[in-house]
Amino acid sequence: MPSPVLYESHMHTPLCKHAVGSPSEYAAYAEKRGLKGIIVTCHNPIPAGYSANVRMDMDEFDLYVDLVEKTRQEWKGRIDVRLGLECDYFPGAELWLEKLHTKADFHHILGSIHPQVEEYQERFFNGNSFEYQKIYFSHLAESAETGLFDTLSHPDLIKNISPSEWDKNRILDHVRTALDRIAKTGVSMELNTSGCQKVIPEMNPGAWILKEMHQRDIPVVIGADAHVPTRVADKYLEALTILEECGYDKIGCFLERKRTEISITQARRSLIEPT
Ligand SMILES: [Zn+2]
Ligand SMILES: [Zn+2]
Repeated sequence: MPSPVLYESHMHTPLCKHAVGSPSEYAAYAEKRGLKGIIVTCHNPIPAGYSANVRMDMDEFDLYVDLVEKTRQEWKGRIDVRLGLECDYFPGAELWLEKLHTKADFHHILGSIHPQVEEYQERFFNGNSFEYQKIYFSHLAESAETGLFDTLSHPDLIKNISPSEWDKNRILDHVRTALDRIAKTGVSMELNTSGCQKVIPEMNPGAWILKEMHQRDIPVVIGADAHVPTRVADKYLEALTILEECGYDKIGCFLERKRTEISITQARRSLIEPT
């Protein structure tokens, strides 16, 4: 049997109030799928009530770190369990995140813009969907430029806000400008397989953006964004195929906040299909 090489790079815990299953259950499913490990990346705490209903509370942070450590000990020698975090980016979040990122030894920090969040919409959505798309992509570039993140999660999530307003030809130049800026930073971007369950049922980002990313040598990390254990590594095989079609032959994975590379051929061989 080929040795495991892949990690689930994006997954959650019940502390964020909209995921189910203990990290141990996610690890068990990862083992079934032939993964080497999991990086727990739950939604970060934010002061002053920014979308407080979908993230851990401020005073639960230590609990989170302990939970991941406990799971790491429990799975030692079988599944490599690592601590990560998914952090919401919006202009003004920088100082808080800078501080938060020093509070534990993280392995993978995701930067996310969640355009469905009410507090974000209140500040940046004036009812014009195209304007909102432009703001999203300029914030995406800005988030990379902060240097706070390893990987930008689901980097075209905005397309699901007003699906009928998502027009490749109209937004193309704005996406290209954002990708030029991101490429200069060296920050990775995610291919998030959970997009298949969204209003526009395709991974985030879609293939045409992946091709633009590849042209700029932007590294890709794959993640299922699992909020239930059985979605660990969900659609990873399909994701690898899409990446190859877009020109990639390697994917990235972060440990100790440093990117390592895995060949797609090797990754494909190591996966075990769900039964
Ligand atoms: Zn979530
Ligand atoms: Zn997530």
